[in-house]
Amino acid sequence: MSPFASLGLAPALVRAASERGYALPTAIQAAAIPAALAGRDVLGSAQTGSGKTAAFALPILQQLESVARGAPRRTHALVLVPTRELAAQVGESIRGLAQHLAEPVKVAIVFGGVSINPQMMSLRGGAEVVVATPGRLLDLIDHNALSLAGVAMLVLDEADRLLDAGFADELARVLALLPRPRQNLLFSATFPSAVQALARGLLHDPIRVDVPPEPSTEPAVAQHAVEVDAARRTPLLRHMIEKGAWTRVLVFVATKYASEHVADKLHKSGIEAAAFHGDLSQGARTRALAGFKAGRLQVIVATDVAARGIDIAQLPVVVNYDLPRSAVDYVHRIGRTARAGASGLAVSFISADTEAHFRLIEKRQGRRVMRERIAGFEPAESIAPALAGGGVKGKRKSKKDKLREAAAREG
Ligand code: ADP
Ligand code: MG
Repeated sequence: MSPFASLGLAPALVRAASERGYALPTAIQAAAIPAALAGRDVLGSAQTGSGKTAAFALPILQQLESVARGAPRRTHALVLVPTRELAAQVGESIRGLAQHLAEPVKVAIVFGGVSINPQMMSLRGGAEVVVATPGRLLDLIDHNALSLAGVAMLVLDEADRLLDAGFADELARVLALLPRPRQNLLFSATFPSAVQALARGLLHDPIRVDVPPEPSTEPAVAQHAVEVDAARRTPLLRHMIEKGAWTRVLVFVATKYASEHVADKLHKSGIEAAAFHGDLSQGARTRALAGFKAGRLQVIVATDVAARGIDIAQLPVVVNYDLPRSAVDYVHRIGRTARAGASGLAVSFISADTEAHFRLIEKRQGRRVMRERIAGFEPAESIAPALAGGGVKGKRKSKKDKLREAAAREG
């Protein structure tokens, strides 16, 4: 019996999984699928790239096999996700896994930021599975484009992100519209207190599935911290891309402006690079992602919000041009590389102004990252050594010193 079949999955689903190249269930799949098939609520915790999508998609599809289906189609399963990219990705994954089922399953994908009309049209006749961001879902319900009255399974994917993205109110409104009893599956890479509270309120006697990153099987993300003056980051980036012969790089920046600016600079020096942020049209984003996946585009320079949840298999290099705001974001960012067992490289640029912030990220992660310098790009501004056991007094220039130096340069 194939390993997926022994989890209790139907042959059509086993076949779809194997066609996608899934030879063995991942740890979260092995634990969550039997629990979900048994009708239990599941609280799943596993790092990014551990295969959580199939862990809920396969049970959803299998449950559909045993419910009476009608016309119009009833929404049996609702999957809530934090971003439009993730909605598209998760929806496509479910469609792919459903393809061999005897009775076709309709999967509707809805998200905000684009015109609502095509989505209303796509919901005509109903859909058994709806993958949605909470805000647009509520709009569609207001337009009577769909009903949640038949929902028997709810999935919250990337619950930490859902709350982060400011969806807490919308989420509460959606939850209030859902019938009971129903089965609830909640997945999250991290468990801040807001997610714990959500889980307590939502889940009924859940089976907890924790997949700690095991040192032996943890995909190897090599973390590097490179010291460089803030003003020289773009030339350094160009240098590293060329020296490392990096063919597919995701660069994180803090602002839309920086995304445009850095992409433009790289582009002008002959590197195929594109900006990727929330002000771009959905079409522009889709094109950029397709180009990146196909290898026509070498570098994507993205803001966190835009890059959230992007699943690109074999993304070898992630660069933190600007550091993320939180340690959680850092984990999510470096999780973009080394998905499902492949190894990856995460490079963070550290300058005098951001050293203290990076130390905080290291502390939260419980891991130190060796500081490095690249010949020709050594910082002129002094950076307090981090590996000397916290801040070293007297090493870092005071504000007064910096002002004095600036005055001396000008004078
Ligand atoms: P997560 O949601 O935990 O971040 P995903 O569900 O997006 O992870 O899966 C990450 C990648 O691993 C995807 O490219 C997916 O196709 C692949 N994947 C999922 N399950 C398996 C499996 N059992 N074997 C091999 N690859 C898998
Ligand atoms: Mg996921």
